[in-house]
Formats: sequence, C-alpha cells, structure tokens
Amino acid sequence: MTVRTRFAPSPTGRLHLGNVRAAAFNWLLARQKGGAFILRIEDTDVARNVAGGEAAIIEDLKWLRLDWDEGPDIGGPHGPYRQSERDASYGRAVERLAASGAAYHCFCTEQELEEDAEEFGEGRTAQRYSGRCRALDRAERVRRVEAGERHVIRFAVPDGTTSVEIHDEIFGAISFPTSDIDDFVLRRSDGRVTYNFAVVVDDIEMEISHVVRGVGHLSNTPKQALLFDAFGVPRPVFGHLPTVLGPDGKKLSKRLGATAVTELRGQGYPPDAVLNYLSLLGWSHPEEKEVLTRSELVASIGLDRVGRSDTQLDLEKLRWVSAQHLATESLAGLASHVRPFVAVESFPAATANLEAVVDTLRTRLSTYGDINAHLGLLYPPEGESMEKRKALGADPAVRKVLEAVRDRLAGAPAWEAAALDQAVRGAGADAGAKGALLFHPVRVLLIGSEKGPDLGKILAAIGRGEALRRFGQALG
Ligand code: GLU
Repeated sequence: MTVRTRFAPSPTGRLHLGNVRAAAFNWLLARQKGGAFILRIEDTDVARNVAGGEAAIIEDLKWLRLDWDEGPDIGGPHGPYRQSERDASYGRAVERLAASGAAYHCFCTEQELEEDAEEFGEGRTAQRYSGRCRALDRAERVRRVEAGERHVIRFAVPDGTTSVEIHDEIFGAISFPTSDIDDFVLRRSDGRVTYNFAVVVDDIEMEISHVVRGVGHLSNTPKQALLFDAFGVPRPVFGHLPTVLGPDGKKLSKRLGATAVTELRGQGYPPDAVLNYLSLLGWSHPEEKEVLTRSELVASIGLDRVGRSDTQLDLEKLRWVSAQHLATESLAGLASHVRPFVAVESFPAATANLEAVVDTLRTRLSTYGDINAHLGLLYPPEGESMEKRKALGADPAVRKVLEAVRDRLAGAPAWEAAALDQAVRGAGADAGAKGALLFHPVRVLLIGSEKGPDLGKILAAIGRGEALRRFGQALG
C-alpha cells in the first residue's frame, strides 16, 4: 500500500505547537514509508477564515521543512486542495449517495425539527433527527425537489446498525453505539456540505491511506467510517494523537502554551529542534532517546509508540531539546544561524568576528536568539568598564602583569584563541605571574569579571584592536 498522509488545517490563525504536531507526525510517517504527504486547506467555514491564513500556514510549514508532495500552492493529481474549490466533487458525491439510497432529501422545516427535539426530551444535548423524510417515496421526493422546496441531504444510517466499530492505531478497538448517531446532514439547504462529509470525500479522492489527527476528532470518526462504507471504499488507517495540554495542565489557550510556530522562529529555535520536540508530544523513541535528528525521527517514528494519555507542553523541555541541537552544530553553521538574530544596534562589533564570538558564548545558548542575552558579557557597558580598568592600572603589581600581556598581544602573530591563550601565559612568565594573579586581572580588564570564558576565546572574539583599546584604558 502506498502511504498517503495529509495535514488538513483550517486557515483560522497561525499554527501553534498544539495543531502543528499533527503535521509533524503525518510528514514523518509519509517520509518513513516513502509515501506522499498532502496539504489540504479546510476553508469552508468562511466566517472563521482569516485573511492570509493559508499563506501563514504555508510559511510555518516551510520553515519547519515539512514539505508536501501535493497541495494548494503546487497542485497535484488529486486537486484542487482547497475545500472551497471542491464543490463539484462534493456535488457528485452527494448525488452518488442519494442515488444508492445511502442518503436522502429531507424537507423538514426548522419548526418541525424543534418540535421533534422537544418531544425527544429535555436535557438531551444530541438533537436526533426523527427520520421523518427517510420514509418519503421517490416520486414525492422528486416532485418536492423540482418544486424548489428547501431541503437538506441526510445520510441514512444503515438499518439494523446498532454500533460502529472503529479500529484506531492508538486507541485500539472502539465501539460507538448508533444511538449517538442520527441521520446526519451531508449538505445544508444553502448547498454547503458539512465537515464530516467533505473530509471523507476529500480523503477518498486524495487516496489518503492514513488519517492521523488529534483525538478531538475521534468523535467524528464513526460518522466518517459509515461514509467510507457507504461509498464502498475501504476505510483509511485511523490514528488519533493524544490531547496536547498547556504548560498549566489545562486546555491549550491562546494565552498559555499556544505558542505560535512563528514566535519560536522569531526566538531563534532551530526547526529541527521544534520538530524533535513535537514528536515527543505523545510519542517516545524505542530506546527513550529524546534528542533526535530529522533523519533519526523519520527512521523511528511509529504510531505503535504513541500513548493515549494527554501530553503537556513543557517549554523548558523545548529549550533543552533546542540547546542539544545547537550543541551539535558546527561553529560555522551555528554562527550563520545566529547572525540574523544579533541586535547590531546594541552590539555593532559582534558581527565582525562572529564565529569567534559564537565560539566564546555557544555553551550559553539554547536558541539562536539567546545570543543577545549574552553579548553583554563580551561588550560590557563602557562607563563602568572604564572605571574598573583604571583601577587595575593604578595598582603597580597588576599594572606590570597587564603591560606584559599587552606587549605580547600587540605582537601576536595569529589572532586565534589557542595562540592567544599561549600569549597570555607567556606574558605571565615574563612578568612572574600565573594562575589567578595572571588571569583574574586580565579578565576583569576585558569583561569586568574574574570569572567567565577562556581568555583566548574572549580575545579572539573581540579582536586585536578592541583588546588593545581596553588595555589602553587601564594602562594609559
Ligand atoms: N480541519 C480539521 C482541523 O483543523 C482537521 C480535520 C482532519 O484532520 O480530519 O482540525
């Protein structure tokens, strides 16, 4: 079987960690099986669509490098890929079901339906349809349709069905009693089709083999399964991913935890770290590994290791995963990723020698954007630093050490961390100082603190001109 998965977002806002997780799983599964990943935009709820919603989804998915093989922007053999453009398919499908008797026209008025509901009983949330129009004979149906009478098309739950049995790859065998399922509407009187119907028509026409989505959709699944059966098409494999809760353990809300993908991008999270973190929302690696590259994820993902219990967003964990990903990057790669995040207006010198700067600070970074929180270490506020430097120069013993270091640095043939470290030690030998007596004053002079990164790395990062300028402030 060719594996074909899909991500079917509604363009109602930006993607966030809770809803993009389904995209991540579907993409990983498709790539693992050498199958296809399809992007479908479910934009029929016009009132909820937001302007630019589809473009934003596409931008976020591209950033995460979840590429699709068919979709609204690139087309494909099973298009169109926007539900708003698929009326012809829905029309044909509704006709097919009506012709086979699996669906029927219902002419009941609002008032009749309300009366039915009252009769059905107070306190029942499900408003079941009585089935009145199911019994109409064909001739009467045709006559009323031709007379232009308002009607909907309802699905005829097959007679004698008492339950719908579903197999879910994650939740196992589930039996839904049909007492909870009435003859639901497929097409409204204004011609718009309903969600469950559109999804099934699309999944059939797009030859979707695996429907993997949030467990919130599990309750739609029996209706969808009945529709697949009515079309005579084998049901896809269903897998419902557990609920993602906010960091407070409550339903994801805009305020808490609904962290938008675009925000993470702005903060400088690597896309592979975000994908890694998304995979851990419900799934675990067979060896419980938590830091996984994209290709390791593709190789190891599987619905068999997805749990059923709710999973909770943990943004600290995301930061940790991100830090692990940064730690494996080459220096050149890391510096190129950090570069666009540097606040050049605050740290204009930082980008001149960025690789050395990043080399000095990389162990402190969990995201690329973290760089700005640490650049102050290499570029401390000028006024305060000058005071400290002058005080150092005023102490004759310290001055002697600093002069020796300055002289070595002024003549250093290569401005590179290891060589500069040697130069400082050599200067210590010249001046008869080592250990704290050597390193502390040099570090205070450079960055205002006795503790901090290696001196060689600090010197390499700030550059010869700046280093000598700082020595000049101390030594005059
Ligand atoms: N459009 C639905 C949503 O955004 C997804 C439907 C599905 O995956 O079947 O929740």
